[in-house]
Amino acid sequence: MARELVRVEELRKYFPVRGGVFHRVVGYVKAVDGVSFRIEEGTTFGLVGESGCGKTTLVRTILRLIEPTAGRVIFDGVDITALRAGELRRMRRHMQIVFQDPYTSLHPRMQVSEIVAEPLRIHFGVGGEEARGEVLRVLREVGLGEEHLDRYPHELSGGQRQRVAIARALILRPKFLVLDEPTSALDVSVQAKILRLLKELQSRYGLTYLFVSHNILVIEYMSDYVGVMYLGKLVEVAPKDELFKNPLHPYTMALLSAVPIPDPRARSRKRIILKGEVPSPLNPPSGCRFHPRCPWASEECRSYEPELVEVGGEHYVACHRWEEIPRVNTYMARR
Ligand code: SF4
Repeated sequence: MARELVRVEELRKYFPVRGGVFHRVVGYVKAVDGVSFRIEEGTTFGLVGESGCGKTTLVRTILRLIEPTAGRVIFDGVDITALRAGELRRMRRHMQIVFQDPYTSLHPRMQVSEIVAEPLRIHFGVGGEEARGEVLRVLREVGLGEEHLDRYPHELSGGQRQRVAIARALILRPKFLVLDEPTSALDVSVQAKILRLLKELQSRYGLTYLFVSHNILVIEYMSDYVGVMYLGKLVEVAPKDELFKNPLHPYTMALLSAVPIPDPRARSRKRIILKGEVPSPLNPPSGCRFHPRCPWASEECRSYEPELVEVGGEHYVACHRWEEIPRVNTYMARR
């Protein structure tokens, strides 16, 4: 078994909600509510779920860009939730993030050379001409060149901007990269190129990825393991092939059944249409959080919250009725 690089244990992030004349805390938005998983070195853990399910809060909490309410994150054997500011800053060299929208994540008045060199300046006090050679080397790795060094973000295409963001994340030679919807702001053809680049970089440098997307096809392409998130919790975790061939949670089945089949000769399959929107994490439903939208909800589901339990072969599911639910012909019908 590969070496574990990241372990997330019962991580929680609650945001207080204040109200009334005295601005007292009247409740909590439980954006992340007891999430646990692990990532092996050199692999990609894909995190999928609808918008508003807590994916972005989870990854920012893992990196301590926002402080967790409870739980631990063990990175390379070190509990980063217990580190002081200086120690955390040193550790951050090894853990970098690429955000969704390169237009807002890149400083509009900095040239590419300054943007990419910025981490070197912050962590090692290296800048200017001294950093230029290293900046150029990493720009070439992401498919850019010398001609891009002096450009500003608005002079680049969307794909080039995201390449700059990846170069900035790579310049410190991190072990772990969090990719938070890195292609969802890009055109489809550009998306494919960026995804291929990320895969090449991973195999060249043995990088470990936490890849976040609402797009299950992108998750399938990128991931070795997949975690399905719903309303602040993981409801299913499994190796990629297992999850796509044998989804056990009704929410995962619904996500897979919504994937369009481009081939008109493909066998028809049953679609699972989810009722309503993701409920508010301020006042989540009782019992199983998915029960108001689940076609198989029972009284037990409304009363008791299911635990995420292993059901064999590193496959985990949080559902009281996973053994009874018919295996619907979902996504794999197109194969
Ligand atoms: Fe549906 Fe019940 Fe399973 Fe929740 S526990 S997913 S409501 S069957």
